[in-house]
Amino acid sequence: MRQNMNKWVIGLSVLFLASCGGKSGKQDITVEMTDTIATETEGLKTIQLDTLAVTWIQDNAAPKLMPSSLFEGASKQVIDSLGLQEGVPASMSTFLVQTNGKRILFDTGLGDSSSCLLPHLKTMGITPEDIDYIYLTHFHGNHIGGMMKGDSVVFPKAEVFAAKMEYDGWMSMPDDKKAQVVKTMTAYKDRLHLFEFGDTLPGNVLTLNAIGHTPGHTVFKTGKLLVVGDLIHGAALQLPYPDICASFDMDKRLAILSRKYFLQYAEENGLVVAGMHLPSPAFLPNKQ
Ligand SMILES: [Zn+2]
Repeated sequence: MRQNMNKWVIGLSVLFLASCGGKSGKQDITVEMTDTIATETEGLKTIQLDTLAVTWIQDNAAPKLMPSSLFEGASKQVIDSLGLQEGVPASMSTFLVQTNGKRILFDTGLGDSSSCLLPHLKTMGITPEDIDYIYLTHFHGNHIGGMMKGDSVVFPKAEVFAAKMEYDGWMSMPDDKKAQVVKTMTAYKDRLHLFEFGDTLPGNVLTLNAIGHTPGHTVFKTGKLLVVGDLIHGAALQLPYPDICASFDMDKRLAILSRKYFLQYAEENGLVVAGMHLPSPAFLPNKQ
């Protein structure tokens, strides 16, 4: 049964996108699996996991390759053996979960002029006002950037949740490093909620400690879905070699421990992994 899912993901992974998804070349693909129904248009894919409708939303417009030089521990021999000389395929992705009439957005992308999050939401018939909750994996600019447009909030009604460890970690950083975080969290301060790891958020979403990439990097679990944020930056490299870190990982020792732990956790529990930098479409099936 599970093999079907592997075939399905491989079959759909050939799509490369250069815009936010216009009408030309639009594809709709529906594949039925044991417990999952998938639909896909350009830069968007929705899978059904029991009661959860999970939509991958690609924020980057152009195909994305991470330079292999970002992965300091990767030898030329390893890069060559994997055929990654041109770079490691990646994406900048966000995920929308719709359950019990609520809409939860996991991270918000970069928020620059090329970002596709808002156009993709519009394609789905969803306005920023329709987002009930924003759950943040961490505070890097390509994850919180979509929350602001200039000095204005983009999501006027969303309740925002982030780890207290992430918030405290960033607030102790130098002013120039934390400026975007301070501005964004201040703008949302009346709707900002700081959680402790192990807390369960609205929508029955469990928060899990995945620190290392940042001081309070968070993995979220709900049903069969595991949203892993920046646990993986270059899947083709880091799945076979999880000890290799991207230069963005702030505490590399803890980042390696978190990466190994949650990859095993997902496999043992039959979870679908949603990763913000996995190559399109940014889901990993379990390997059972
Ligand atoms: Zn990051």
